[in-house]
Amino acid sequence: MFFLEGSVVNREQREKVEDIRERSKLVVAVGTCSTYGGIQSLRDRTDIEEVKRFVYPRPELIDVEEDVYSVQEVIKTDLAIPGCPINGDSFLRVARKLVLGGGEVSIPESLCAECKRKGIDCVFVRGRSFCMGPIISAGCGAICPSFGRGCIGCFGLRSDLAPRDIEKFAERVEKMGLARREDVYSFAMRFSYAKDKDHFERIMKGGRQ
Ligand code: SF4
Ligand code: SF4
Repeated sequence: MFFLEGSVVNREQREKVEDIRERSKLVVAVGTCSTYGGIQSLRDRTDIEEVKRFVYPRPELIDVEEDVYSVQEVIKTDLAIPGCPINGDSFLRVARKLVLGGGEVSIPESLCAECKRKGIDCVFVRGRSFCMGPIISAGCGAICPSFGRGCIGCFGLRSDLAPRDIEKFAERVEKMGLARREDVYSFAMRFSYAKDKDHFERIMKGGRQ
């Protein structure tokens, strides 16, 4: 059984991940980078040489591919636990289930469900803060709303959403005057770029959809 954190940025890592898949009965993607690409996938579809020059004093030493890949894009994983960082209780629940012989689990539940169960006052409805909760995976225990702050999406987009769902959410938020459509895309791309690279690339190139 293997738990894989992080994303895949070069051939060596790709081969390592493929080798792990071959040798393991069960592979679990752990964290938002492993599940959806994470923050570093923001550099996807950009000029990698320019990015390297900007970040590193010796860019010629940096061996990375043009795009960042989530582990889920490179191999088929059996389970994924998103989060940046992950929630310890979620991890233990999954580990317990694996030890007891459970199979694949997929719960495409939004963060809002956690908020409701905990009786947290919705910061969005109260107009106190913009919140990505409706389109973000549950799992963190609604940490930010419990402190009166909106969610910025570090647990990644819900796995059951299509690009059009994200657009509809962004349109609605803008109509309500709570945030600009671009802000919704910006948060969605920040943590979940690998979920739908083509879609996000269109947004980056074309601005508004
Ligand atoms: S605070 Fe955010 S996550 Fe919680 S119910 Fe409101 S919109 Fe959903
Ligand atoms: S509320 Fe949102 S931003 Fe805050 S920890 Fe949870 S998923 Fe991350």
